[in-house]
Amino acid sequence: MIRYRPIGTIDSPYSKDPDDCSRIAFATTDGHTYTTDHFGSADIYVVYTYDSTTFLHVEDIENSTEEEEVDGDVRKARSILELLVGRGVDVVVARRFGPNIRKISRLLVPVVTGTRDISSTLPALASAWNDVLACHEHSADKRRHVVLETANKVAAGIKEGVCQGCGRCIPACPVDALTMEDTCAVIDPIMCVGCGACVSACPFDAIEGPAP
Ligand code: SF4
Ligand code: SF4
Repeated sequence: MIRYRPIGTIDSPYSKDPDDCSRIAFATTDGHTYTTDHFGSADIYVVYTYDSTTFLHVEDIENSTEEEEVDGDVRKARSILELLVGRGVDVVVARRFGPNIRKISRLLVPVVTGTRDISSTLPALASAWNDVLACHEHSADKRRHVVLETANKVAAGIKEGVCQGCGRCIPACPVDALTMEDTCAVIDPIMCVGCGACVSACPFDAIEGPAP
């Protein structure tokens, strides 16, 4: 049975042995609701521990990092990772990740959700927990991300008849969701995390979906 406390904290973030449980950060605007922008734009990272049985809310971390200077700002991504990894976080949950998702996944397991708030994510996250653990076991360069069943998978799509087959979108995708078939790009909707990098990379406005 899943038990969790969406509001309130236990006495100390470290009152449970951190080796016994994972620390999960949820990217929110207000402590409950996810930011609709990418993970790095959250105002508050809400941290729960999870020991495969029970979620416990342990602390809220204010996103005190500086504003993004450019889309996909590497410096900003590094600051957030330092902030979260320094607090023992090993899993991050958001509705959307930006082009830096591969940098994130070298240190943490990114989990993509489609639900509006933390409470409605927890059952889906518990169901997918073996996938999260398996992802975590991979070495940094092989680690990818986990997409919960609740996630919106209609993230980006190729406009029929508009794609010119130039291939510029392929290297822009941080999760290898794009391939070329004949002379047209194809997006794997399960792999796609909706970062919008391909939309920016396409010179022919041939991709619809997430804003970069
Ligand atoms: S297909 Fe486009 S929107 Fe989806 S993950 Fe790749 S670059 Fe991002
Ligand atoms: S960049 Fe645009 S036009 Fe070029 S292959 Fe990708 S979708 Fe097609």
